[in-house]
Amino acid sequence: MAPKASDEVENRFFGYFLTARPKYEVRMVKTVKFGGSSLASAEQFRKVKAIIERDAARRYVVVSAPGKRFSGDEKITDLLYRCQALAASGRPFDADFSKIADRFTGIRDGLGLDLCIEAEIDEIRSRIEAGTSPDYAASRGEYLNGKLLAAYLGVPFLDATEFVRFRDDGTFDDDATQRRSEVLKTYDRVVIPGFYGRRRDGSIRTFSRGGSDITGAIVARGTESDVYENWTDVSGFLMTDPRIVPEAQTIETVTYSELRELSYMGASVLHEDSIFPVRRARIPIHVLNTNDPEAKGTMIVPDSMAGDKEHARPLTGIAGRRGYTVITLTKDNLHNELGFAYRLMGILARNGISAERMPSGIDTISLVIDDKRLSGKMDQLYHDIMIECSPDTVEIASCIALIASVGIGMVRNPGVAAKLFTALSEAEVNARLIDQDSNEMNIIVGVEQRDFERAIEAIYRAFA
Ligand code: ASP
Repeated sequence: MAPKASDEVENRFFGYFLTARPKYEVRMVKTVKFGGSSLASAEQFRKVKAIIERDAARRYVVVSAPGKRFSGDEKITDLLYRCQALAASGRPFDADFSKIADRFTGIRDGLGLDLCIEAEIDEIRSRIEAGTSPDYAASRGEYLNGKLLAAYLGVPFLDATEFVRFRDDGTFDDDATQRRSEVLKTYDRVVIPGFYGRRRDGSIRTFSRGGSDITGAIVARGTESDVYENWTDVSGFLMTDPRIVPEAQTIETVTYSELRELSYMGASVLHEDSIFPVRRARIPIHVLNTNDPEAKGTMIVPDSMAGDKEHARPLTGIAGRRGYTVITLTKDNLHNELGFAYRLMGILARNGISAERMPSGIDTISLVIDDKRLSGKMDQLYHDIMIECSPDTVEIASCIALIASVGIGMVRNPGVAAKLFTALSEAEVNARLIDQDSNEMNIIVGVEQRDFERAIEAIYRAFA
C-alpha cells in the first residue's frame, strides 16, 4: 500500500516501534517542496513553518520564489526576468526592481526576522545592471526566498549549486547531480532553493519554468525520502477539468503511468520532468494544499504500489485536447496488403509529421494528427498518400477533440467500455473514433469539437 505522507498515526507507530526495538531504528524521511503561492507573503510563510514543524520527518525543504498573492499580482520570477531584459536593452529597470526588493523586505519584516538581505539585494541589482544572464537573474527569487525561510525556521540554507549540476551545453547532468546529492544527507533539516543549479564554470543555469518541482524530486531521490510532498494551492488533482465539471472530485491515488497519460492529454499537473527522478526511485509524490493542510490531497504512486486501487473505481481521470484532424484510409483487403502501413509511415516521416494515434480495422487505417503538426502540410500529405498507398477512399475529418478516460482499474472491470459508450450515446455525442491502449489503461474517444464538454461531462457522471 502507498505510504500515507502526512499520516501522524503512522509516525506514532514508528515511534512505538523504536521504543520497543531500539536496534532497528526506522525514521521516516520526507522532502517537502513549497510552490510560489505557498511562500508569497509573511502570512504564507507562517503556514509553511507550521506544516514543517508539525512533522519531524519533513527534513528537506525546497522552495520556489514568491508567487502571486492575489489575482493580478506579479510573480517575482517574472519581475526578475523583466528587469534582466530591460537592463540588457539599456532601459531603466528600477521600478520593477523596487517591487522585488519590497516583496522580500516585506516578508522579512512581516515575520519580524532579524536578517540583513539588503546587501544581497544590492548585489543582484548591480549584476543585473552589468548585464548578467537571464538564468542568474531568475534564480535569485528562489535564492532569497530560501535564505528567508531558513532563517525563519532556524535551520541551515544549502545552495542548490552545491549539488544540482548542468553540462556546459546547458543540459541537466543527472549523474553529476546524483553523486553530489550525498551532501544532503549530512543535514538534519535544511532549506534548499529550487529551480537552478550550476555549470562546471560556476555560472547559474535554471530548469524550465516551474522547475522547482524538479529540484524537489532530485532532493527526494538523493535523500532516499519515503515520500516527496509537493505543497501547492490546490488540494490535489481533480478527476477532470472543473471548468467543465464544477463538482469534479479529487483523485486520491493515481499511478505514475496514469498521470503520464492524463498529463499528455492536457491535464495540467506537475512539471513533466519532475516525475522521472522519483519515479525511477519508486518514491511516491503527495500533492497537498498549504492553505488546507488537512485535506487528503493526491498521492502519486509507482504502478506496483497501486494495491487495491485497481479494484476500486475503474476510472481515475478524464482529460482531453482539441485541435486534431483524422485521416481515414479505406482499401479492400488492406490487412492482407504487405507494406501498406510501412509506406504510410514513410510518407509521414518524409513530411515531418508524427501521428498521435493510428487505430486500424480490417480495411481501414486512421491517422490522428495534431493540427499544429499538420499545418501547411496537408496537400502534400494527401498527394503522397494517393500516389503511394492508392487507397479506395480517403476521409478527412477536422475539428476533432480527443478525450482520454484513464484508469488502471479498467482492465479488471468488465463493462467499462459499454458504460462509457452508453453515456456518450445518451448525451447524443457521436464517437468519431475509438482507440484503446494495449495496456488497457486508456480509452480514447474522438468527438467533434462542439461535443467536447458534453462528452467529458457525460463520461464523468457515468463513473463518478
Ligand atoms: N520560480 C520559477 C517559476 O516561476 C520556478 C518555480 O516556481 O518552480 O517558474
